[in-house]
Amino acid sequence: MTFTTRFAPSPTGPLHLGHAYSALLASDMAAHAGGRFLLRIEDIDHSRVRPGWEAQIYRDLAWLGLSWEIPVMRQSERLGTYHNALKSLWDRGLLFPCTCTRRDIKAAASTPQEGVAPPMGPDGPVYPGTCRPDTPGGPWPPPPGAALRLDMARAVSTLDGPLTWQETGAGPSGKTGALVLDPQPLILECGDVVLARRGMGTSYHLAVTVDDAAQGISHVIRGRDLFAVTPIQLLLQHLLGLPQPVYHHHRLIRDVAGKRLAKRDNARAIRLYRDEGRTPGDIRRMVGL
Ligand code: GLU
Repeated sequence: MTFTTRFAPSPTGPLHLGHAYSALLASDMAAHAGGRFLLRIEDIDHSRVRPGWEAQIYRDLAWLGLSWEIPVMRQSERLGTYHNALKSLWDRGLLFPCTCTRRDIKAAASTPQEGVAPPMGPDGPVYPGTCRPDTPGGPWPPPPGAALRLDMARAVSTLDGPLTWQETGAGPSGKTGALVLDPQPLILECGDVVLARRGMGTSYHLAVTVDDAAQGISHVIRGRDLFAVTPIQLLLQHLLGLPQPVYHHHRLIRDVAGKRLAKRDNARAIRLYRDEGRTPGDIRRMVGL
């Protein structure tokens, strides 16, 4: 199989050094393997996406010396595919509609002691199960205005063994190689994750899993911050009958205080380095490539 990898930015802000490292590393690894480097624009969250950011992403990546195949996959154009995947999970009783707000979840998940935060999973506060029905089902499509959640206990019960994957990078605690994970803790530690956000028709986990398969991604190369959510995506691959890529979670680029760079750290925008007269070679050196 041809080594195929991707860089999958969300056009919700400028690319910073962390993105540059991820994109350059993925492109370098593809070139080294004689493989393919693809782009995917993860633009499902209309409340945060701004049109200008996508154009800026292309300019920044081209300036860094990267090239990619055309056409670029854009998630906003793939809602029909996500709908079909959701329907197949719904038909198997694995999804349920949920109308809880974030505030409802916080309130229901906290202990009676005021101020005690609900347990946090890799995907946010763990859902306490408020809307989960005893028997799944009901007419498709479910009411608009509801999110769709995966019934994690049912989903895990479809597995006949541990989740396994090949990690060529490493997780935050150094886990690497052939990894084996007991899926049972996902029920308590991740809970019923959202697969379609209210009014959005999909969620990060569903879209990323379906799209990695659609793009024929053999190697997912991305930051270590996404290591903890990988089991959710492996479970979705299993449920949807999709192939499993190799994962390579890379180190994170941190600021001087040791904090992971985030989009709000405007000072680190690639464009600003370029405007200051730095070269793509300088950026490579700054990120240690
Ligand atoms: N769109 C995600 C981000 O910008 C990356 C998703 C992934 O690589 O799996 O963080």
